[in-house]
Formats: sequence, structure tokens, C-alpha cells
Amino acid sequence: MILLDRVSKTYPRRSGAALQRISLHVEPKEFVIVVGPSGAGKSTLLKLLTREEKPTSGKIIIGGIDYERLKDKDIPKLRRRIGVVFQDFKLLPNKTVFENVAFALEVVGASKREIQNTVPKVLNIVGLKGKEKNYPRELSGGERQRVAIARAVIRQPKILIADEPTGNLDPKHAWDVIRVLEKINKYGTTVLLTTHNQEIVNKLKRRVVTIKDGQIVSDKANAEYEL
Ligand code: ADP
Ligand code: MG
Repeated sequence: MILLDRVSKTYPRRSGAALQRISLHVEPKEFVIVVGPSGAGKSTLLKLLTREEKPTSGKIIIGGIDYERLKDKDIPKLRRRIGVVFQDFKLLPNKTVFENVAFALEVVGASKREIQNTVPKVLNIVGLKGKEKNYPRELSGGERQRVAIARAVIRQPKILIADEPTGNLDPKHAWDVIRVLEKINKYGTTVLLTTHNQEIVNKLKRRVVTIKDGQIVSDKANAEYEL
């Protein structure tokens, strides 16, 4: 599903590589947690997968697509296969919950009927039934993040990338969000999660990839947080 072979990334105006010869293989339907200190390169790794950044060297193949051969015109198609959730939600403040989620379908030309059918189903999955007409400012942080997840998964991506999705949340709301990620994973989506939250990592007991100074220093199944 995801294959990185000796991938390095050097940013302009930054001395040294943000990522150095990272090799990683993620199977379909895996749930992988990426941990590491701030500045280690976690977000850079995720940005390479969404093609927000290009590697300086190395090979990236996702769902059979070799990124070296990827044309700019193929990027929207790629983005449909990969849902993304960020720490700061990035919801549209002047749209309701329903409209925020529907928007992800409107931009790909879905019919009104399809939107009316699909949005309630996804809101149900993330536990937001009854909040359709609320605006983001009327929701808790955890609820906002679940709207963002609904929006990210409504086009049924093969991969869901969540970059510190619980970073702004208190423990209870953080767990609500994590439970939703687990549910989406159970339905068959590969999940890549970065987090600083030691308790979450230890309780989830998933594969944990630890990055330090741009390198993978450990990669273990059913692992706990270690730094
Ligand atoms: P993490 O998500 O693990 O905190 P990042 O991937 O965001 O780390 O950053 C890794 C390193 O790359 C940091 O030293 C950061 O300052 C640097 N970096 C990230 N993005 C850029 C950029 N666009 N330009 C220059 N340096 C960057
Ligand atoms: Mg980051």
C-alpha cells in the first residue's frame, strides 16, 4: 500500500536533511503510529505521502502509483485516495457541519442525491448525528475534529493520514477521536497517525514507528511509546 525506499528530504534554507534515507512499508489496512520529538520529521514524512512536498531522493510508491511518474494532473486523483486530518481541523467557519462534509463531495461533482445519502451516513460513523445544522464554533474541539475526519473519509480513501489530530484536545475528546480512527481502520482504511500522546500510544498497542533527527530509529508491532 505504502512503500518508501531510502527517501530523503532536504528543505531549502535548512541545513541538513529533514529526513534521511527513510524506508518504510505499510500494508493495506494497517494502523501505524508515528512518534518522535518535535522537529524529527513526522509531518515531512506525511507531506511526502500527500505530495505536498517532493522527496530530494528515494522512491515512493503508494497504491501502485510511483510518485516519480506522477503528473500534476494526477494529483487530484491521488488526493482522493488519501484523506488528511490536521491538528487545527481546518473547517470552513461559515458552513454547517453538514455543509463542511458535503463540500468534499461537491468539489468532485457528486450529485445532490449522493450527497444527501452519504453525508448522514458518515456523520453517523463519527458520532455526530444531530449536529448537522451546527456551525464549527458551536462544537467542542473533539467534535470539530470528528467533522474533519468525516470530511476526510467521505470519498472513501484507501489511506487516512492524521497529523497530531489530538494535539489540541483534552484526554476525553482525544479518545473520542482515536476511537473514530480505529473504527475507520476497522472498515478497511489504512491509518497513519502521528501523536505526542504517550498514553494513547501505549493503550492502542499498534505498530509504532519512531523517528528521531530524520531517521527511523525503531519500528515495532504492538509497541509502546519510547523516546
Ligand atoms: P515534526 O512534524 O516531527 O515536528 P517536521 O517534519 O515538521 O517535524 O520538521 C522536520 C524539520 O524540517 C524541522 O527541523 C523543521 O524546522 C524543518 N522544516 C519543516 N518544514 C520546512 C520547510 N517548509 N522549510 C524549511 N524547513 C522545514
Ligand atoms: Mg509535525
